[in-house]
Amino acid sequence: MPPASSPQLLNDTLAELSLGERIGLVSRQFDRAVFTTSLGLEDQLITSLVAEHGRAIQVVTLQTGRLFPETLELLETTEQRYGLTITRFEPDTDDVETYVDRYGLNGFYESIEARKACCHARKVVPLAKALEGAEAWITGLRRDQSDNRKAIPFAEWDGARGLMKLNPLADVTSNDLKALIAESDVPTNPLHARGYPSIGCEPCTRAIKPGEPERAGRWWWEQESSQECGLHPDAPPTSNTTQPILESVDA
Ligand code: SF4
Repeated sequence: MPPASSPQLLNDTLAELSLGERIGLVSRQFDRAVFTTSLGLEDQLITSLVAEHGRAIQVVTLQTGRLFPETLELLETTEQRYGLTITRFEPDTDDVETYVDRYGLNGFYESIEARKACCHARKVVPLAKALEGAEAWITGLRRDQSDNRKAIPFAEWDGARGLMKLNPLADVTSNDLKALIAESDVPTNPLHARGYPSIGCEPCTRAIKPGEPERAGRWWWEQESSQECGLHPDAPPTSNTTQPILESVDA
């Protein structure tokens, strides 16, 4: 029998468990749980936990067409290491062509509107396809990644998508994460050692300087208040939420 069904109860239950137990519980509780990985440190740790504790969980990634070569190589290395398939969801060709016609291939530097339109075509729409029919969505969000994320719970109802959104690493600090990665021999992106703690699409990610917040290299030309790609809204949605899907999907 599922030990928890409401977001609050599930949240409270997950808070008491180890990381492996959290993944195991989610795997048992939901008929179709989808984990979206961007191959970052958080997601690589979750993939290793899924391989060990929750093989029923479907692992997917958003292949935006603008990823670093190092990320694409890590994708294959990770599949081989854990013997699992990471399903690629790609943008619709027509959507990309429409974007390029209107804004230009790299038009996202020109305005927030253009940047969000690119993220919408390359990430948000593919994410919606990846989550079709899912009961739960697992992410690698952590509270100390940015001010926008400092209050995220372990479990919240995503009313816009009609599923439970789960953040099993919500309480893991940056230092904890590095220690766990080092202990578990998880394959990681070589870009991390070159000053990229958070890695997304190549044209929208830069290395950070010592002392900068770890997401300072993402959409660095924008103000932080707008620095989400539309995959994760700033505030948890409620069951009454009708906000557009554009707000939330990061990597
Ligand atoms: S991160 Fe940059 S390249 Fe990637 S989808 Fe968003 S705007 Fe486009």
